[in-house]
Amino acid sequence: MLIGVLALQGAFREHENSLRACGENIKTRQVRLPGQLEGIDGLVIPGGESTTMGKLMTDYGLLDPVLDQARKGLPVFGTCAGLIMLAREINGSNQPRLGLMDMLVERNAFGRQVDSFEADIEVSCLGPEPFRAVFIRAPYIMKAGPGVEVLAEYKGKIVAARQGKCLAAAFHPELTGDLRLHRYFLERCVRKS
Ligand code: GLN
Repeated sequence: MLIGVLALQGAFREHENSLRACGENIKTRQVRLPGQLEGIDGLVIPGGESTTMGKLMTDYGLLDPVLDQARKGLPVFGTCAGLIMLAREINGSNQPRLGLMDMLVERNAFGRQVDSFEADIEVSCLGPEPFRAVFIRAPYIMKAGPGVEVLAEYKGKIVAARQGKCLAAAFHPELTGDLRLHRYFLERCVRKS
């Protein structure tokens, strides 16, 4: 199984490590050019800075090809800035995005005073064992459309969701050793039926 990791900016190496740790059959490819989307079975969009990422995706001519592939069924997993890239609406911003998930997100949503924090949260699709979530200037999902399955909340705010083959988390699963969310993406979104 070959998983592309968008490597324009942000925490892409950590995602590659997590994905490869999921199994010997998992290969990864850094994606910077449209041609590198060819033959991948899934795509991860890492954390970073969504405005920069959107601009770079536009400059590198990646926005439309990724959209095109996703519409043809390419599974996409976005974390933090990647979640923002997946959102249809970004509160108060018209920055470039993929808009593949029917949700409204708020950037930097946990306040300026608390830039980063960690919390044990329950992620419904992963069972009862809590997930250590690392939040770094994290967004949250203000509104999720009817087709969006809410997977996790923190203090009443939606922080993980799935819509079809798209998975989004406001936190950084690639920064802990817990591979369950990556495995969920591989097994539930990518695996061919
Ligand atoms: N605050 C960043 C943004 O709006 C996201 C932060 C992150 O990805 N760690 O893009």
